[in-house]
Amino acid sequence: MGVRTMSNLPDGVERRSFDGTERLATRGEPVYGEPTDGEWRAWNPDRSKLGAMLELGMDTGLEGGETVLYLGAASGTTVSHVADFAGPTYAVEFAARPARDLLDAADSRPRLFPLLADARKPEEYGHVVESDVDVVVQDVATRGQARVALENRQFLADGGRLLLAVKARSEDVTRDPSEVFTDVREELETGYEILESQRLEPYHADHLGIVARS
Ligand code: SAM
Repeated sequence: MGVRTMSNLPDGVERRSFDGTERLATRGEPVYGEPTDGEWRAWNPDRSKLGAMLELGMDTGLEGGETVLYLGAASGTTVSHVADFAGPTYAVEFAARPARDLLDAADSRPRLFPLLADARKPEEYGHVVESDVDVVVQDVATRGQARVALENRQFLADGGRLLLAVKARSEDVTRDPSEVFTDVREELETGYEILESQRLEPYHADHLGIVARS
């Protein structure tokens, strides 16, 4: 892991110019039609909550090379970028269809391990995921997002980070998002110390990005 600089970007993530526009980028095979420049590919914050968290300057604590448990991997848009700069990256997704694309993204990424499993049932993948992961990234867009984060805390090393994207509408479409976020934060604090939280507009409406420590 490299020496921390003033930048909030981990080693292996850079700001590079694509067609005259500065964008976050990682090195790897393209996955979702993103622009490329040689071995670099743009990381689109409109398509990625973690990308938005980095773009908005949140201090995720990511340095590069970490072991990551990623919950809600879908077809691999974000987790493929993570696997480009992190160490072993376990990607949990319970829907079979996106998981097929996730397998394609993993083809060229030997450190990316797709797991077809339910993030609410950690016992389904506990035997595969190494204990003491450095970072849990969660973007499950389902009801009970704080509970999912609490149930997966068991995988985190002491002081490990949770990087969580909370979608208000997944908890309750009828409630004011800021009230939903207050409740989620309160529940999360029963098991985590919240270090930073920020809404992800303009990239993602009614989402809250949270950085927490176990
Ligand atoms: N994180 C992805 C990205 O940035 O590329 C997008 C994730 S999408 C917003 C939410 C995903 O979480 C969906 O693919 C959904 O199937 C998955 N999901 C929801 N509940 C889940 C659960 N309990 N276990 C595993 N995956 C779940």
